[in-house]
This record gives sequence, structure tokens and C-alpha cells, in this order.
Amino acid sequence: MKNSLSILTVPAFDDNYLWIIHDGVSAVAVDPGDANAILHALEAHQLRLTAILLTHHHADHTGGVDALLAHQRVPVYGPARDGIRQVDHALHGGDVVRLDAPQWQLQVIDVPGHTAGHIAYYAEAQHWLFSGDTLFAGGCGRLFEGTAAQMLASLELLASLPDHTEVYCAHEYTLSNLRFALAAEPDNAALQDRMKSDTEKRTLGQPTVPSQIGLEKRTNPFLRSREPAVIATLIATGRMENRDDPVASFAALRNWKNHFA
Ligand code: ZN
Ligand code: FE
Repeated sequence: MKNSLSILTVPAFDDNYLWIIHDGVSAVAVDPGDANAILHALEAHQLRLTAILLTHHHADHTGGVDALLAHQRVPVYGPARDGIRQVDHALHGGDVVRLDAPQWQLQVIDVPGHTAGHIAYYAEAQHWLFSGDTLFAGGCGRLFEGTAAQMLASLELLASLPDHTEVYCAHEYTLSNLRFALAAEPDNAALQDRMKSDTEKRTLGQPTVPSQIGLEKRTNPFLRSREPAVIATLIATGRMENRDDPVASFAALRNWKNHFA
């Protein structure tokens, strides 16, 4: 089963990635914000849609669901607590999604913060994580409906997955995230290397996603709010005072990033 599934990257809008996971015949769409992009990819690869997985309620992740359902009636899996009308398989953290076609199992992880009910999907057999707008390559989602403490806990839960886990996030925000990361931690050599290699990918028109959990732990400031070098920057720039408060340093980072040009 491990190698029988493939992932198609489906770019949509300005910077979204929609994901199609398939076995060559049957396909699952993750966060289909744009139905046409999904339908074109399904047709190009001669795949039949069998399920939709949603991470949270925002339109760029759910906007294509109605049109896809009109095209083909399939089950819609999504967070129980995010108020998504089309969800008919409501999920909570700890649930397991078992699909027959394609044959696939995913664990549901509760990751509130970006929205109140945001969930992530972890496919242990493939080492794939679908993190929606919670963990980005080099960054994290904005706090629209949750607190800094919630988001930090959510990110640390994702960071506890194996280092080689591939992170399929929902946006290509990486270079702007890494510019911010370098402001927060200018002397991080792994981060400097990542900026070089991801800049090269973008220059060639390639996605920087998926990332990997191990790389995120070494370079993503939002997974490094306990790191002395990050805390030192926050204190030196007057963004926080108490160095022993990881939630405060995470909140200071998130707030700084909101206004970072
Ligand atoms: Zn969102
Ligand atoms: Fe989004």
C-alpha cells in the first residue's frame, strides 16, 4: 500500500495548492477551493473522484465543493466544529478516516487556531501530513478564530510527527515566510540554506511544497519560539520582555509577522 498512492499538486487562485491523492483510478481531493482546477486534473489523469477532505471552512478551501458534488455525489469529510454545510462525515481529533477507493487511512489531528475547528490529516503509512492553513512551509496561518496558546499547541502537535513526514500545506507562501524567518533568526545556517534552495525552486517555477517536519523544526520560527536565538531577537527589538514564556514569544512572532513587509 505504501507506494500505491500518488499526489497531484493542483495550483489554484494566486497561491493555493489543492491536492489530489489517487491510486491511478480513484481520487480524493483535499481542500478543493476551485472545482474547475480539480475537474481538469481529474480528467487529464482519467481519475474518478471518490471523496473530499476538508481542513477548515475558508472559501479558498471549500469553494469548489458544491460544483464537485453536482458533478459527482461523494462523501465530504471535514471538521465537526467548523460549521461547514456540506460535511456529511464530521471529524474530531483522534478519529481515523478509512477509505476503500483508493485504499487509504488518515488520522485526524485537532489543530485549532487559524479557525476554531481546523483539523489536519496525517497518513502514517505514507508519512504525509495535510496541514491546511495551520503549518505552512516556513510559517503558520493567521489567528483568525483562536488564541496564540491554541495555535502554539497545534503546531507543536504537528512538530511531534516523525522528521521525514512530508508537509502538504495549502499555500505557496514560503519565500515571504522565509524572509520573515531570517529577520527573526538571521544566523540560522539551515534557514539560510533553505532560503537559497527554495528561492531557486521558485525561480524555476517549482513548488516549495511539500516540506518536511524535520526541516520545519530547524527553520520555521513558529516552531522555534522556545529557541534562545529567536527569543533574543524578540527581546532586542522590544517585542517581548519575559524570556520564559513560550506563548508570549509565539504571540510576539505572529503579531510581528502580521505587519512584516
Ligand atoms: Zn484559511
Ligand atoms: Fe487558505
